[in-house]
Amino acid sequence: MSSVTPAVSLDQEVNPWEAQSARFDFAARKLNLDEGLWKLLRMPAREIIVHFPVPMDNGRIEMFTGFRVQHNIARGPAKGGIRYSPDVTLDEVRALASWMTWKCAVVNIPFGGAKGGVICDPKAMSQGELERMTRRYTSEISDFIGPEKDVPAPDMNTNEQTMAWIMDTYSMHARRTVTSVVTGKPLNIGGSRGRIEATGRGVMVACGESLRYHNMNVDGCRVIIQGFGNVGSNSARLLMENGYKIIGIAEKDGGLYNSNGIDIRQLIEYKYRNGMILGFRGADAIPSDELMVMDCEVLIPAATENVITSRNADKIKARIIVEGANGPTTAVADEILAEKRIFVVPDILANAGGVTASYFEWVQDRQGYFWKEAIVNEQLESILRDSFDDVVRYAEAHNVNNRIAAYMLAIDRVAFTIRQRGIYA
Ligand code: NAD
Repeated sequence: MSSVTPAVSLDQEVNPWEAQSARFDFAARKLNLDEGLWKLLRMPAREIIVHFPVPMDNGRIEMFTGFRVQHNIARGPAKGGIRYSPDVTLDEVRALASWMTWKCAVVNIPFGGAKGGVICDPKAMSQGELERMTRRYTSEISDFIGPEKDVPAPDMNTNEQTMAWIMDTYSMHARRTVTSVVTGKPLNIGGSRGRIEATGRGVMVACGESLRYHNMNVDGCRVIIQGFGNVGSNSARLLMENGYKIIGIAEKDGGLYNSNGIDIRQLIEYKYRNGMILGFRGADAIPSDELMVMDCEVLIPAATENVITSRNADKIKARIIVEGANGPTTAVADEILAEKRIFVVPDILANAGGVTASYFEWVQDRQGYFWKEAIVNEQLESILRDSFDDVVRYAEAHNVNNRIAAYMLAIDRVAFTIRQRGIYA
């Protein structure tokens, strides 16, 4: 396979928009995508930037900046999370919005792609400040979101409570309760059973299918996970319950290692009580960057972007990488991993369990009929198994790696829809 990336600086390498564009261009070229559709799909359709005031607890007014980027709505309403972080940038939100278009197309659900973010430090804000900021941000973007337009969901540092505030704010403007405007809500107000652990469940399916593909056994399969938030902790628990040995957890402020396996249920309880994993007695402390390159069968980055780069990719010893996070691997690192014959399940497939369950939530809200958890889990696992199969078969047929195969499959599906609809002019 020829190279995805031209020579780039580290700054370019870790720019998520550059990373997305490099893969998109490569896949579009492989597909012989016509020039017009190439240009159309390369750029997001709409980028909203809002600067808005929030009264803080100390009586002062602070200004915040928020984004909502809608990449493409050819296949259905835009769909994608909202993240709160001091590091949010427009380029990051653009990349994440594009990945949502490709992700929804890979699992073949009727959504386009979007993403949102607010530049803030949620850990330094009170609940009252977070609520006021969330409500004002929602009101600033309320003309652009809605069940048929754009349906937000949680992402880094946002959760069920954030979604409840967004739903309530939007509903107050609409003068009626509109549960289907967001997904990832609490069960009591239109949430779906199985949604909280859905991304972790999808990661578990991707691990199982990868082992099957390589004729490997769950027995003795050692897993290292980076990130112990929603995706990391739920992946870890489900994998442990299904016989995998979780030997390492790498968090922001340090990692844990136990060659006999970490008791994940106890660790979840420990983090709940202490707010961190450090100090847990059931494993040894170890620097997180060391954990990433330790011997294991499966490595699951489930924290954030750009954690596998040209700096550490050649040291990675895992046989399989299952990307729970969005954009954990740079395009340059992809090529190093490919040379090492590491099997990568790309983010737009591996973490699609979340958006798949979000789709079920949206359907249930619109029907006003709520499914049993077993139905949600069964449908989710079936969609993800089929999608895994689609991607690896596409990769074999076109002699490309799984990531490029997933992009090609997704771009082809979106392009097909656009050709069918035609271009309104
Ligand atoms: P989260 O905020 O619940 O958890 C993230 C965890 O990662 C936190 O515990 C944080 O301390 C840790 N972390 C952050 N930076 C780190 C670093 N450099 N090294 C080690 N640990 C670090 O977020 P989440 O919802 O679990 O999302 C994690 C990733 O998964 C993100 O990339 C997100 O976009 C992606 N994702 C989430 C969902 C979902 O349903 N929540 C769905 C698809 C993709």
